[in-house]
Amino acid sequence: MYDVAVVGSGVIGMSIAKALDEYGLKIAVIDRDEPGKHASYKAGGMLGAQNEFNEDGALFRMALASRSRFEALSRTFLEEHDLDIEFRQGGLIKMAADEDDIPDLESQYQFLNSHDPRVQKLSEPALDNLTQGSVVYRNLSIHIPNDGQINAWKYTRALLTSVITKGIDRFCRTEVHQISKRFDSYMLKTSAGDIHADKVIVAGGAWSGKLLETYDISPMISGVKGEVLLVEHEGLNIDQTVFMTNGCYIVPKNKNRFLIGATSYFNDFSVGVSDVGTEWLKTQATATIPVLAESRLLKKWSGVRPYTVREQPIMDELNNGLFVITGHYRNGILLSPLIGDLVADWVIKNQRPELLRPFQVTRGGVGNGM
Ligand SMILES: Cc1cc2nc3c(=O)[nH]c(=O)nc-3n(C[C@H](O)[C@H](O)[C@H](O)COP(=O)(O)OP(=O)(O)OC[C@H]3O[C@@H](n4cnc5c(N)ncnc54)[C@H](O)[C@@H]3O)c2cc1C
Repeated sequence: MYDVAVVGSGVIGMSIAKALDEYGLKIAVIDRDEPGKHASYKAGGMLGAQNEFNEDGALFRMALASRSRFEALSRTFLEEHDLDIEFRQGGLIKMAADEDDIPDLESQYQFLNSHDPRVQKLSEPALDNLTQGSVVYRNLSIHIPNDGQINAWKYTRALLTSVITKGIDRFCRTEVHQISKRFDSYMLKTSAGDIHADKVIVAGGAWSGKLLETYDISPMISGVKGEVLLVEHEGLNIDQTVFMTNGCYIVPKNKNRFLIGATSYFNDFSVGVSDVGTEWLKTQATATIPVLAESRLLKKWSGVRPYTVREQPIMDELNNGLFVITGHYRNGILLSPLIGDLVADWVIKNQRPELLRPFQVTRGGVGNGM
């Protein structure tokens, strides 16, 4: 019998397990796949706490708080496990992809600048100066100096290493088919037999709804497939992530590598990168950084972002001791350290943290957390 069974070993499930371990509980982390296959390993790794928001709200505040943890977290992974998650605070440049996007970007700029005067519009010479002339100027470009990034693959591997080192029980290639209440605890029917736990946390990413079909929230949870290219260009040296309002972004990685993301296909759970997606990413990226036309394609991959119809996470206790923590969409990497601690606190104290109140499921939707 476990104290807590966590379904899903992406960044959300593992951050929660890692935080719960601090309280000395007996924890099981269950995943139907081998590590490396899903969203957490496939992400761009942007810590876009400001890039992603255009108004104040609970999620914006949480994103800022979570972003601020990465510097220390990266040091801890280095010290404890000799793993470098490649944290960088190189800043982000956000640009209007076309004229129609200018009003929305202008209003986001007004919001961000009113909270943080370091967020500034960039003139053409200022953009040239910042990026050594590699980025094509657009009518509206804003500089967000405090947004950073990590290597999502390495960060997720580091969390896995931490879970393994702590001796948390892991069940790989073990699919949970059903969760049912048995008196004061839960029984999980899995492909490897029954697992019993006092509490269960469903952190199954885009697939969480399938496991909770008997609950009203099931249809609210879906997935948005995204495709990504990884290219190399020895002559290109920029520190900043460049993010276009049409969703295409270029994230500089170590060794002159650049991650170009990402397409968005709603309700698509398929695996693989289409020719159309590859072409779109290449076209958009080279329109913004022309020298990328001469880059070498190293790899391409896809992943499915956990999405909810209201575009904000669902973090709720559905039944006494049964929690669902999902729907972090484009920001699961960014939010994971804070979510891990908050959910662990909730499970231990049996009291929902105030910060998570906006994400409970209410009749007809989710609370307003934006
Ligand atoms: C292309 C792309 C780019 C992204 N870029 C960024 C970014 O720059 N910054 C950012 O913050 N976020 C980004 N994201 C989003 C981020 O990756 C996700 O929000 C985050 O990884 C979600 O983590 P998770 O643990 O909820 O889900 P996942 O990583 O999908 O993990 C869920 C796990 O649950 C398991 N599972 C599901 N059902 C069951 C079951 N029944 N039984 C057992 N196991 C089960 C799955 O096998 C999976 O391993 C991006 C995502 C994609 C796809």
